[in-house]
Amino acid sequence: MRALLYAALAVLVLSAAGRLAGGAPAGLRVQYRKVSSAPAPSPDLQSLCPARTLPDGRVCIPVPAFPTDLAALDSERSAHRERNGQWRNYDQIPRRPDRPTEYERYALPLQVASREQIVSGYDLDLPDALQRRGDELSAVGHGGVDIVEQRGAEVRLIALERQQADAVVLYVGPLFGNTVVTHHILREGGEQRDYLMLFGHLERPAPGLHVGQALPAGSLVGLVGDSGSAGIVHLHLEIRRVRTGVSPTALGSGEYVHNARTVACDPRNVLLLRP
Ligand SMILES: [Zn+2]
Repeated sequence: MRALLYAALAVLVLSAAGRLAGGAPAGLRVQYRKVSSAPAPSPDLQSLCPARTLPDGRVCIPVPAFPTDLAALDSERSAHRERNGQWRNYDQIPRRPDRPTEYERYALPLQVASREQIVSGYDLDLPDALQRRGDELSAVGHGGVDIVEQRGAEVRLIALERQQADAVVLYVGPLFGNTVVTHHILREGGEQRDYLMLFGHLERPAPGLHVGQALPAGSLVGLVGDSGSAGIVHLHLEIRRVRTGVSPTALGSGEYVHNARTVACDPRNVLLLRP
């Protein structure tokens, strides 16, 4: 029985390694400064690798969760090595295998004419070594997608897949620089789930935008800027699922991205595909 278990694990590791050999998904281009020279993991990876990962060469590879139904995704767990060298486990909802990898195939809050505008994608589902980190970035990994556009370009609200009604403005204020957070209710597996969409680094929010305001798709959210990311004019778009039992309207500004309250979600799971 044990031998059978080990054989099954070996198959999982080999299939994960096979996917790794393919490199980062197309459309994910990490362009943020040089990669920091973190010390190479010691050979004793078995004890260093976090839960639900297994050593493979010099890296820890997440063991794929099967089946990848919504219930399984709910508890999907990943890990990366923080800048202080410690491993951190976190929950996240990875891209479903049936969703295209290229961001430009989705309806986005900006007109994307070229994939060159997508400078950094969601990478929290990738092995530690492939997650974004740089000398000027405080956080390891990237829970959203960064889209470059000219300063002042209009950011317009989009509806998400299976969205039930107009989104509602939940927050306008500092978070990722000047940030707007909207609340979207999606129907998933017969129940309604709360999602947040975060628009970061805005030059400024749309005039008159206020908390509690219902906002139809196409409404102006704000203008592209570099607040909180001086010199890099871009939109940081992040989508998070609110945990069951948590009321979105009761969240404080620091809790929108707090792992105990909301879970990072690969935006490609819920963005609408372009016709
Ligand atoms: Zn970003």
